[in-house]
Amino acid sequence: MASVKRLCATRPIKNARFIRSVAPNVIPAKEPLKGFASLVPIDILRRFHTMTEAELKSRPDLIDALRKLHAQVPKQRPTGISRLFGDSPFQGTLHFVKLMFFSEANGQTLEVSDGDLATAIQYMALAAPAVSAYCSQYGSNRIDVSPTVLPFGIAVTSGLYNDDAVQNIVNDIVSQNHLPHDSSCIIIINPPGMVNTDAENDFGYHQKADAPYCFINPVSFPFTIEDRVDSYAATLTHEVAEMVCDPGVSIFNKEVCDGCDLNCNKFTWRNFFHDPSPSLANSYLQSTNSIPANLNFSYFITSIARPDHAGDCPVSQAACAYPPPRPTGASELLFYDPAANTGEFYAVNGQADITIQIQHSDFRSSWKRILAGNFSKQAFGSTILFYDAAGHTGEFYGSDGTGSLNLIGASHTDWRSSWTQIVRGHFSTSSFDDLLFYDASAGQGEFYKTGNGDVSMIGVTNTDWRKSWSLIIPGKFSNGAFTDLLFYDPSAGTGEFWRTDGHGNVSLIGANNDWRKDWSIIVPGNFTGGPFTDLLFYEPASGTGEFWRTDGRGNVSLIGANNDWRKDWSMIIPGKFSNSPFTDLLFYEPSSGTGEFWRTDGRGNVSLIRGYADWRKSWTSISEVVPPT
Ligand SMILES: [Zn+2]
Repeated sequence: MASVKRLCATRPIKNARFIRSVAPNVIPAKEPLKGFASLVPIDILRRFHTMTEAELKSRPDLIDALRKLHAQVPKQRPTGISRLFGDSPFQGTLHFVKLMFFSEANGQTLEVSDGDLATAIQYMALAAPAVSAYCSQYGSNRIDVSPTVLPFGIAVTSGLYNDDAVQNIVNDIVSQNHLPHDSSCIIIINPPGMVNTDAENDFGYHQKADAPYCFINPVSFPFTIEDRVDSYAATLTHEVAEMVCDPGVSIFNKEVCDGCDLNCNKFTWRNFFHDPSPSLANSYLQSTNSIPANLNFSYFITSIARPDHAGDCPVSQAACAYPPPRPTGASELLFYDPAANTGEFYAVNGQADITIQIQHSDFRSSWKRILAGNFSKQAFGSTILFYDAAGHTGEFYGSDGTGSLNLIGASHTDWRSSWTQIVRGHFSTSSFDDLLFYDASAGQGEFYKTGNGDVSMIGVTNTDWRKSWSLIIPGKFSNGAFTDLLFYDPSAGTGEFWRTDGHGNVSLIGANNDWRKDWSIIVPGNFTGGPFTDLLFYEPASGTGEFWRTDGRGNVSLIGANNDWRKDWSMIIPGKFSNSPFTDLLFYEPSSGTGEFWRTDGRGNVSLIRGYADWRKSWTSISEVVPPT
């Protein structure tokens, strides 16, 4: 067996089944026990879909089938990624089968041991998130792995069977176990002593009977999860990945692993991972075309070609050997835990499901303020400002939307250490976001332009500001051309709205002196759909959350009040966490590790989108990182 080149047999079986469907004179309805290749040479079956009539000169009986193939118009999926034909990518569960062949000749039972099946299941459960991440380039998918082995026994008179027999077995298993056809995939590992004649010189293939299935020819036993002897793991992930991208085995779809594997190379491109890790991005080690003896990995998977190159044979190294794509969502959150030097990026979708993108464990422990915005054109997505008061330092980092960070410009080490507030807004005519810095101890405010890692002051220092402002909230509180500001002084119960003029100066819009003195958090947002920025006020001692409307002239009016809120929220972060037209809210409570995403309804009411009770208790900052609009 070692001298035979082992390939993936998906394509020749696909082609054989197509030929049978249009040319039963060539391949009859009853498949011969010796397989499709006993009727049409395997070399033709492998290439039939790309052959010309001239190349088929030796087989004139296949010309008509080829013409019928060319006459078919691929059915493109109306939505989603247009490079796939037929069924959407797989979303469902892999079911491993213990196939027992009872030989009538000698009374033997041929089967894969329970231990090896358990190892294969354990391996697949580990590898499924990585396979799913790479396959997400072809469309959204889900791969669950059932821990339960499905037993299936069958009496045989010889050691040979074929793919038609496999399909009958798959259909019996699906029906006996009442498995849903669209969301189940049967995994068959061939036991030693049995030969599937349609995969005799192949490591495996995937096909579809009543449900999709993968057929695996292992090289050796016993199995290990690492599979350094290269027995089954590469085949299993090769076939599962191709099945996920092409569950309906469309004749028009590419085999997404063949170009990175032995079908087109003398080697297999593989991606190596180490677990446990905080994220798939953290667990990814490297991609190579061998199994490095000295690499400390937990598992590998066969590479999946980048979609634009799936039809190449071979696929280039660049399109096979690359890290797993990271999740993205409608919004992105950056969590910061200074005690652990940790920053974690999460993708958030429209149902407030959060998925980690990557964990950084090299964050400075002394960042006091983290603020995302559009501070540089060098950044692909957002730019994030990090301010370290004790270190007099400010740094701008470009963020690519999936948690990668790169320093933009220099590290500024001459910043004032006494800034108590940093606020983002449009305080000039710059195309980037500007910043307001407030120094409570000095009673000073300075406006700055940003751009490509630098800052430059707008106008001069404002030296006569009150020292008791606890909160400064940016928003549209007038019809001015620039961002307005709300200043809140709890000791006096004062809320003042100020206009900025684009040159670093401010002028009062209107003052309120009868406000509660115990608001701990004020959140700006769109809570009514009105022309001006609305405000949420939170007061922990009584569990009060009140939504207020602003009128453009410095006055406020109540939208709605809630008196039954938790009393221990430490952060309320506005953002887009649902498909609501209004601003959503993320509440964080550290002592219990609670994070809750809530929707607002435009009338001062809130409803839970999704809650989490297992969050880290030591986050001190949660920031929404959205690409600039
Ligand atoms: Zn393949």
